[in-house]
Amino acid sequence: MALILDGNSIRDQILKECQPRVAALAAAERPPGLGVILAGDNDASARYVRSKVKACQTLGIYSEQLTPPASVTTAELLEMVECLNQRPEIDGILVQLPLPPQVDTKRVLLAVNPEKDVDGIHPLNVGRLVENTPGPRPCTPAGIMELLKRYGIVVSGRRAVVIGRSDIVGKPMALLLMHQHATVTICHSRTPNLAEVCREADILVAAIGRAALVTADFIKPCAAVIDVGQNRISTQEEVRRIFRDSPEKQAEFARKGSLLVGDVNPLDALEWAGAYTPVPGGVGPLTIAMLMANTVDAAERRLGACST
Ligand code: NAP
Repeated sequence: MALILDGNSIRDQILKECQPRVAALAAAERPPGLGVILAGDNDASARYVRSKVKACQTLGIYSEQLTPPASVTTAELLEMVECLNQRPEIDGILVQLPLPPQVDTKRVLLAVNPEKDVDGIHPLNVGRLVENTPGPRPCTPAGIMELLKRYGIVVSGRRAVVIGRSDIVGKPMALLLMHQHATVTICHSRTPNLAEVCREADILVAAIGRAALVTADFIKPCAAVIDVGQNRISTQEEVRRIFRDSPEKQAEFARKGSLLVGDVNPLDALEWAGAYTPVPGGVGPLTIAMLMANTVDAAERRLGACST
């Protein structure tokens, strides 16, 4: 039976470590500030932003939301970003993705001042990540590295497989694992013999967006399996495929009408992995914690009180 890697408890540790740093900045000059742009009316995005703003409030970080309608233009968003770039009390800028389809997302992200890029996705910061020089790292992969470190899971010298090659998760994840001296393979939708490649992994990271695609045949016995996926399933067939005859899950599904599941089959991971991040309660909480940490880092750098 796999050890459950508890993302909530690691999140709490990270936030607790941020607390005195926020207090010190507030006492010396002002609290860190985060500006969030939430464009349109995507329910999931609105939910994520609520969680991020709540985390700011809990920690004493100043936060501000700009909520343009779904019809917003690229030019209007560029103006909002520029305004946040100029505001001295804003240390971090978060543009919640996805932006509405008519918007040139790349242009908007490029307009964010790299020193305020708390998501670590500006090309300058991507360059810093590739070079392994200091800079903000994308929150989800950075959170996973913290989880591995704090659970004492050895990365150096081990085989890691990352499924997914997105700019925000898969690619930075692979780079961070490589910088910690893992031997890394990146897989994607055109990788032949996916299960066979994954079975080589001591550390398997699934960032795919396909409910429970990773099954027992992907998992090397005792591997650490990190499930980044957040997928909502809404049919009896899917519930049965993933949770088999679990009466608890059937009851939860009947009550809620849908279930949140990862990219890894949870029953298979529990049976075969050595350690496993559940969904919910695994990777999700770490992303918000690292956004807070990146915002505090940015404020310390900008106020000249760098602690690193
Ligand atoms: P994405 O941009 O859609 O990328 C998905 C990747 O998976 C792509 O590289 C794609 O390959 C690959 N893929 C798709 N189907 C595949 C298949 N059948 N076999 C192998 N590879 C396949 O997604 P993302 O933004 O990286 O997010 C991935 C998942 O993580 C989503 O469920 C998302 O909701 C979740 N997520 C969670 C958090 C969190 O905080 N927990 C944060 C971010 C994302 P190609 O490149 O060939 O298309």
